[in-house]
Amino acid sequence: MAYEPGPRGPDDRLEVDIIMCVVPEPPKGERNVLVSKDGRQEPLMVGTGQDNFLCGNCGAVLAGSMGPEEIEEAPLFKCYRCGAYNRVP
Ligand SMILES: [Zn+2]
Repeated sequence: MAYEPGPRGPDDRLEVDIIMCVVPEPPKGERNVLVSKDGRQEPLMVGTGQDNFLCGNCGAVLAGSMGPEEIEEAPLFKCYRCGAYNRVP
């Protein structure tokens, strides 16, 4: 399934792009890290909100259309494009 940005809602709120913070590779097992399955080039999480979370290194969308409650639960993301570890700022 290819990722497509959702359409704007009827209230015309804009989607917001948020750049995440690149962090060093965490020690194994210390934190949950979301990684791409089978090397797929698509967001690791897709929610039902308005915010896109972008890799702080290369700008790939790692989590799309996230709501505030959804992103609170998010672990670290390993970028499917450049391999950088990112955390939600
Ligand atoms: Zn990246």
